[in-house]
Amino acid sequence: MIFPMTKTPQAPAEAAPQLKPAFLLASFVAGLFVAPSGGAAEPACAPDALGVSRVIDIDRAKGAAVGLQTYPRTLDLRDHEVILTFDDGPAGPTPRVLDALAKECARATFFLIGRNAESLPALVKRAAAEGHTIAHHSYSHPDKTLRLMSEEAAKADIEKGIAAVDKALGAKSAPFFRFPGFADTPELVADLTSRGYTVFGSDLWASDWSKMTPKAELDLVLSRLEKNRKGIVLFHDSQGITAQMLPEFLRELKKRGYSLVHIRPGDTPTPIVAAGPDWTSTTEPIIAKTLGPKARLAPQTHEHQHGAQEAPKSSEP
Ligand SMILES: [Zn+2]
Repeated sequence: MIFPMTKTPQAPAEAAPQLKPAFLLASFVAGLFVAPSGGAAEPACAPDALGVSRVIDIDRAKGAAVGLQTYPRTLDLRDHEVILTFDDGPAGPTPRVLDALAKECARATFFLIGRNAESLPALVKRAAAEGHTIAHHSYSHPDKTLRLMSEEAAKADIEKGIAAVDKALGAKSAPFFRFPGFADTPELVADLTSRGYTVFGSDLWASDWSKMTPKAELDLVLSRLEKNRKGIVLFHDSQGITAQMLPEFLRELKKRGYSLVHIRPGDTPTPIVAAGPDWTSTTEPIIAKTLGPKARLAPQTHEHQHGAQEAPKSSEP
């Protein structure tokens, strides 16, 4: 593809920074947690692991579209709170990403490509068993994006993806969706949100679809985070450089006083905060540049750019 395509009442009392033991934290974080079968020992995380500071429930009864790079609203995070998200897996580097997260007792949300889930179902099950949230990113991650497909074909690709992920997981995954390349349409967003899906953009990204060293990616994403001070961060577990830089990134989060927030489906209102009056879409100008004028949405749904981050250039696996 083209590019990376890649609330609250704050869940009161969900903060549990002292829950260090892996099993405790995992079962707390995820009602979804499935104990590893076969008596395998739970890997211990480091004594000073990053962990998860709180969990935000995303209302499964009422969908929304969040993430400031695409939508004029986002999840209501506190200063120095970070949500980790990974797109395009499962893929070759995914086990190393899961290892790095496990070592820090960290939790993330994986937006899976349906056909990858079909090929690598064990990794889908592993991610869920380790307490991560399993979400959706279409079946085929079409190069031309869902926006440029007919509405019918786009909906079919989305549904096929959801079914493939659920089948690989052997359970119902989270009603969370991220558009490949952020190339949504008002109709598709309305359809998903009316069915209780929350559509995720991102608040910042690591540009890990660009050719760079792991160290360059680390410096880039940390500098963006220091500027934003919080947010939903987008990575790709399909990218080897991300798997390489992740252990150090998680250490740096801890060192710099950031805390991790995990998201999961829930039954309370999603805590959402509106963007300021000067909000503009980061992704629309990139989509227009990448896909051409055909991809442009009507001006009332998306406005213009901001340019805080450079456009992704290279294609994605
Ligand atoms: Zn993607």
